[in-house]
Amino acid sequence: MLTVEQARQTILDAVAALPADTVPTAAALGCVLSEDVTSDINIPSFDNSAMDGYAVRASDVAGACAERPLRLRCQGEVPAGSVASSPLQVGCALKIFTGAPVPPGADAVVIQEDTRREGDVVVVLDSEKTGANIRRAGEDIGKGVVVLRRGSLCGASHVGVAASLGRAQLSVVRRPRVAVLATGEELVTPGKPLGPGQIYESNSPTLAALVRQAGCESVTSGIVPDTLEATQIALTNALVRADAVITSGGVSVGEYDFVKDGLAALGADTKLWKVAMKPGKPLVFSMCNGKPVFGLPGNPVSAFITFLLFVWPALQKMRGLASDALDLPTANAVAEEPFGNKGDRRHFLRVGLRREGDRLLARAAGGRQQSHILSGLLDTDGLIGLDPGASVPAGSAVRVILLPTLTPWR
Ligand code: AMP
Ligand code: MG
Repeated sequence: MLTVEQARQTILDAVAALPADTVPTAAALGCVLSEDVTSDINIPSFDNSAMDGYAVRASDVAGACAERPLRLRCQGEVPAGSVASSPLQVGCALKIFTGAPVPPGADAVVIQEDTRREGDVVVVLDSEKTGANIRRAGEDIGKGVVVLRRGSLCGASHVGVAASLGRAQLSVVRRPRVAVLATGEELVTPGKPLGPGQIYESNSPTLAALVRQAGCESVTSGIVPDTLEATQIALTNALVRADAVITSGGVSVGEYDFVKDGLAALGADTKLWKVAMKPGKPLVFSMCNGKPVFGLPGNPVSAFITFLLFVWPALQKMRGLASDALDLPTANAVAEEPFGNKGDRRHFLRVGLRREGDRLLARAAGGRQQSHILSGLLDTDGLIGLDPGASVPAGSAVRVILLPTLTPWR
């Protein structure tokens, strides 16, 4: 049986970043840039006023103060979006607004609060140094500078900076589209009544939500009955629609488990089945038509945890993130109670975290830790991997794999 690390590596070796795609700038949020973005313009592209006030020559207002105000004739005004009709004359001021171009001849802006208006005369109550309240052309971004780097994950600031350069589109690694299938005759879509022996289907909504949290698009493909034919058809359709496929259930050794056989019938190259971990031992990973297929266990907690450990990093690689940014973040915490693993597979303990001063304290998440107890995930903040035989006394340091937050792309 493969170890967790071997399984993770096998999967990561098989998947690659998707090709680039050009998208509207706003749609690049959460995507990885596949180009360096260079500025074609200076930003600001012209000297402009940082404040509402009066454009002046600093030498004309030298020495002005409340006790000895200076008087300048107001020559006109320059609102944002327009240009002064004539240069600033000596001994004059031009009313100017934030963002408006500083007229030729002016070298400072006196803020409105330091002036008083008397008809067409501006009474200046304070002096200003040369350059005061002027934003210089190119002081933010110079023309020709590489502003955004290929490989960066686009957040709101990247979108904003690209737009400020005038970029309507960006080249990004295509966002993976992931099909999510549920297998099992016993499953019923929420909203419909339950018959005898039936349960509500919860894995696909959970996995689709995790797919979106991983920064990918999800397409759910419904419930697949436990037959080889239905499994084969569902996998075929999903592989047409998506860049990757996730199934849940049907990967154990039972007579009604058809995911492996379905993949084999499609000529898939199955790279692994079963990983030495708990929960989540039955896990299939195949490449089919060049696309990864993750056959996750049916037990809801097992599906959740195997997604985080194996599917999450694979999806991050597919959307173009670098090798050091594939896994979920971890945090150091202190065990609030003893933890141990008497089994023979690595156990992923679900823990809740709380802060005490500058320490994080970890305790086993409420409820039981079995793989069918989905509600135990409600107060789970992270996972601790415990090797077989491990015993962690209370008070010792533990490394916690943090569950994804609601930030949708990390
Ligand atoms: P399986 O691996 O198909 O034998 O499923 C293992 C357990 O997980 C069974 O108790 C299933 O009923 C349950 N299960 C499988 N798929 C789902 C699902 N999509 N939603 C909720 N429970 C499921
Ligand atoms: Mg089943």
